Amino acid sequence: MKVLVAEDDILSSKVMEEYLDKWGYESTIIHDGKKAWEIFKNNVENIRTHQSNCFRIAILDWEMPGMDGIELCKKMRQISKEKNNIFVYIILLTGKDRQEEIIKGLTAGADDYITKPFDNMELRVRLKNAERIILTQDKERERASTDNLTQLWSRNKLLDFLSEEMEREGRYGEIIGLLMIDIDNFKKINDTHGHLVGDQVLKKVAIRLKNSMRRYDKIGRYGGDEFIAVFPRCGNKQIKSVAERLRESICSKKINTEKGSLNITVSVGASCSENFPSISCEELVKASDDALMDAKKQGRNKSVALIKEKTA
Ligand code: GH3
Ligand code: MG
Repeated sequence: MKVLVAEDDILSSKVMEEYLDKWGYESTIIHDGKKAWEIFKNNVENIRTHQSNCFRIAILDWEMPGMDGIELCKKMRQISKEKNNIFVYIILLTGKDRQEEIIKGLTAGADDYITKPFDNMELRVRLKNAERIILTQDKERERASTDNLTQLWSRNKLLDFLSEEMEREGRYGEIIGLLMIDIDNFKKINDTHGHLVGDQVLKKVAIRLKNSMRRYDKIGRYGGDEFIAVFPRCGNKQIKSVAERLRESICSKKINTEKGSLNITVSVGASCSENFPSISCEELVKASDDALMDAKKQGRNKSVALIKEKTA
């Protein structure tokens, strides 16, 4: 596991580096708070995308040139929050041992507080605790990222993907297509055949939708019988044809359940960022949702795109 150490004292940091190395951590030692911040900031994207080479633990001294440990800690917490609550375990390691200082450090967002001179065995067990907590967080995050029933991405995870893609769009001008897909008269399936059959239908619809998509497009369960799908680099024309393809993938063949084969259809609402300069994630979802409502109003088993046609 990679550890970022911000410590201005050359001798202490050398000792720390040796211990960390002995205990199997890969450390980067920085002697200046501002530089440590620059390095951490550039690393945030790697943490968010779960790259193996990113810092998961930071050990910060309090007094440092450039930026002190308290400000650094606050800034690290702030950016972690902004970047979808990525998790970094922060340990303040300082000579300041008064109670109000410990309170100030923990209030700034540190997970742990160790006073100097520190006992190396104590640091070692505290780092072990940090690792345990990081692994628990990662597992929890992974669990929350998939939908139990359909094994598609969860709503939150899909919205994360969407916001990542929208950021990319902002930076590189790429376009994004978005579909909302809803099973038609699903309540009737539950009412007629029971909830278990309803579940089987949901699972099979999910599989068919996923199998009709490219590997780098993403689909998730938005809730109930509604799905959301994100298509990077998919313009107006393409998103319309994808919407039709997904709709057809469901209605073209009956779905087998324990109560026999059922005719299932879906309605699809499509939108594309190509139409709306500087549209937000929420607005794009809303545009597809409005189109989906239209499809329902038009009699269901339809795809409707809320897009502006380009005039020559
Ligand atoms: P519409 O064509 O307008 O979409 O009608 P609908 O009947 O599909 O929509 P409605 O929103 O009335 O009903 C959705 C139903 O989906 C209601 C809810 O009980 C059911 N549902 C939600 N989650 C699950 C689930 O996990 N399993 C099952 N079996 N049913 C679910
Ligand atoms: Mg429905």
